Amino acid sequence: MDYNQLFTEMGIESQKIEAKGAVASYIPELHRVDPWKFGLHLTTIDNKNYGLGDCNEKFSIQSIAKVLILALAFELEDDKLWSRVGVEPSGTPFNSLVQLEYEKGIPRNPFINAGALVICDILVTRLKDPKQEFIDYVRNISGNRSIDYCQETAESEKSAGYKNTALISLMKSYGNIVNDIDVVLDFYFYLCSIEMTCKELSQEFLFLAANGINPLTNSRIVSPIKSKRINSIMQLCGFYDEAGEFSFRVGLPGKSGVGGGIIAIHPGKYSIAVWSPKLNKRGNSYKGMKILEFFTTRAESSIF
Ligand code: GLN
Repeated sequence: MDYNQLFTEMGIESQKIEAKGAVASYIPELHRVDPWKFGLHLTTIDNKNYGLGDCNEKFSIQSIAKVLILALAFELEDDKLWSRVGVEPSGTPFNSLVQLEYEKGIPRNPFINAGALVICDILVTRLKDPKQEFIDYVRNISGNRSIDYCQETAESEKSAGYKNTALISLMKSYGNIVNDIDVVLDFYFYLCSIEMTCKELSQEFLFLAANGINPLTNSRIVSPIKSKRINSIMQLCGFYDEAGEFSFRVGLPGKSGVGGGIIAIHPGKYSIAVWSPKLNKRGNSYKGMKILEFFTTRAESSIF
């Protein structure tokens, strides 16, 4: 499909959508971002690219990086992974503590903070130099050496990371964290600080649209079955207590981050990234969700 005409329409539509909500304020560095930024980029599996607005400006991808640590840990652990983290939607906010106590320190899924912290613990055990090896892994996925952590954002989150400290301490008390909690938290805050543009993000995630192979570099990132499973967890858990709403409105597997980014995948077709920093009450980009709903509706291109 040629999306040029639709992207022209989306440029007009994006100006009509009022950006409601507020920029994340609990991470001091994120609060400094211009709330009116807006970027959108689509990459098809045959490498056609369509961009809009601030699609070439880097932003903090935050929880979107949880998909990439999952891909790496899944490669390393295979199905052993699922003894320490589940695959069920949580129906709770991304940083909620309540279920963890009832469920004895086993997080519902890898995309809530608790689950991502367990994945980080696994990577801290398996990798000699987790930060360096992980950023190399991320760069290799799309062949993009410019992708990096943002130290200011990572340190800024660390200075205010009380909820994550509480989550990891609770899990440590149940024996589901093996390593020193400060080491695991440090790795977690850094991976959340990774910056990409919408264009880079859509190219990075294209492997999930192509059965685990990045068509841009022709390299296999994960097996087809792992690609299927990661997409299914994104579908059910990528938006925390708003996963149903995203599925209902957009109809694609996706993942959001509190930096205002969203990545969504159409297996077999494309990946699409959007960035608009103002978040709704559930911590997902308000305008990002609206424009993706417009896109999949107009293009008649959801998985349903
Ligand atoms: N770094 C953020 C946190 O731990 C990630 C959350 C998100 O993007 N939803 O709170």
